[in-house]
Amino acid sequence: MPLPIVAIIGRPNVGKSTIVNRLAGGQDAIVHDEPGITRDRTYRNAFWGDRDFLVVDTGGLVFDDETEFLPLIRQQAMTALAEASAAIFVVDGQAGLTSGDEEIAQWLRQQPVPVLLAVNKCESPDQGLVQASQFWELGLGEPLPISGIHGSGTGDLLDLLVVHLPKVTELIDEEIGIAIVGRPNVGKSSLLNAFVGENRAIVSPISGTTRDAIDTVIKRDEQTYRLIDTAGIRKKKNVEYGPEFFGINRAFKAIRRADVVLLVIDAVDGVTEQDQKLAGIIEQEGRACVIVVNKWDAIEKDSNTIYDYEKQIKDRLHFIDWAAMIFVSAQTGQRVEKILDLVQTATEQHRRRVSTAVINQVIEESVSWTSPPTTRQGRQGKIYYGTQVKSEPPTIVLFVNAPERFSDNYRRYVERQFRQQLGFAGTPLRLLWRGKKVRAAEAGSNKATRV
Ligand code: GDP
Ligand code: GDP
Repeated sequence: MPLPIVAIIGRPNVGKSTIVNRLAGGQDAIVHDEPGITRDRTYRNAFWGDRDFLVVDTGGLVFDDETEFLPLIRQQAMTALAEASAAIFVVDGQAGLTSGDEEIAQWLRQQPVPVLLAVNKCESPDQGLVQASQFWELGLGEPLPISGIHGSGTGDLLDLLVVHLPKVTELIDEEIGIAIVGRPNVGKSSLLNAFVGENRAIVSPISGTTRDAIDTVIKRDEQTYRLIDTAGIRKKKNVEYGPEFFGINRAFKAIRRADVVLLVIDAVDGVTEQDQKLAGIIEQEGRACVIVVNKWDAIEKDSNTIYDYEKQIKDRLHFIDWAAMIFVSAQTGQRVEKILDLVQTATEQHRRRVSTAVINQVIEESVSWTSPPTTRQGRQGKIYYGTQVKSEPPTIVLFVNAPERFSDNYRRYVERQFRQQLGFAGTPLRLLWRGKKVRAAEAGSNKATRV
């Protein structure tokens, strides 16, 4: 999905390019050369929280006087606005309200795009609010005092802005494949029944060639979920299980077909070695995961029970510590519906794509907090840049001078930074450390996919 666009609109000299620079940080400009549009517009990558977007500056025009520039601004701004998810209208708090602002505002009020009114040059602590308040008149809602140069107010502006931007991974219209795995008797088929009972099961098509592999498709709101290999889950349990046999091959196949795996744990028994083995497969296969602790009704609880359980289970399943955990009862139905919310989030993160600009911002920050290790010979590891090469699961290549200079410790630190700053809850995250040789070849092939 293309990134949402934010158009910056306003008279010349109000500080538009200063603001764009601040929103986009030090990221390079990307110039789109589009046929049919006379003037190139410059798009810059920016992000705030979990939203990535492009900022397009409508400035860059030279005008002689106020009477001449409006038609031009309008033309440029219109093109930018037509494709924008939101606009920031910038005015000059020190210059005060001008007729030019009024004309732009009048036009903006008729546009179907949400507009935020940023009153720039309001860095003065005593006058800023007063300077801003003169712009209430424009009828565009609350004037937000900011300073492009000092940065004050821009955080609030961004908070209000991102509300209007779609999450990059929103609008999942594809179905989500769910594998329910776990040892015998943890409650997989009870869980399946609970899902089907509460939702509309639309079909039970046979996928694949064997009669054996039957999926159940359920629909909730607009989202369809394919519960994979429900025949395997329902299978009669008059089979004698050897100590090692718990249908791992079948589980393995289901995991490979899934987007999200529900790893069902029996609250009474806790995490066993077999659960750990399944968790290992989920991580290896790069599937998203939700840890479902079932039979929660059968546990005697006090106020700390859930935290103790959570800690214990996280410890024993530390290699999928990114997975969300939920305590449910398939029997009573408690919180079963909530599982699908977690599935939704995990899928979004699993399919997520993050722009190169954002990744490099994280790298820059990580390196400036803790520099890469230096060898005894005094050679230091250096990360040149990173880029996401695929999703499902998100996979980021880091181009470095020499991968061997990065200890496991440092690699884990960088991964933690990525998770802390970008989330990726519910999905494995792959960081690939590549040395110089590979770098030349890959850098070439990545160029085309930059935007
Ligand atoms: P644009 O033509 O709208 O892109 O405006 P610029 O970003 O080029 O800024 C025009 C002038 O306003 C420059 O001299 C900036 O230094 C100044 N300027 C921009 N932001 C601020 C601000 O927050 N406070 C003050 N005092 N001046 C600013
Ligand atoms: P499967 O082998 O993993 O498919 O497990 P089943 O769904 O067949 O459940 C195994 C046993 O656990 C059955 O006797 C269920 O009644 C029981 N069970 C399943 N879910 C729950 C639950 O949430 N609470 C309690 N107390 N028992 C459950």
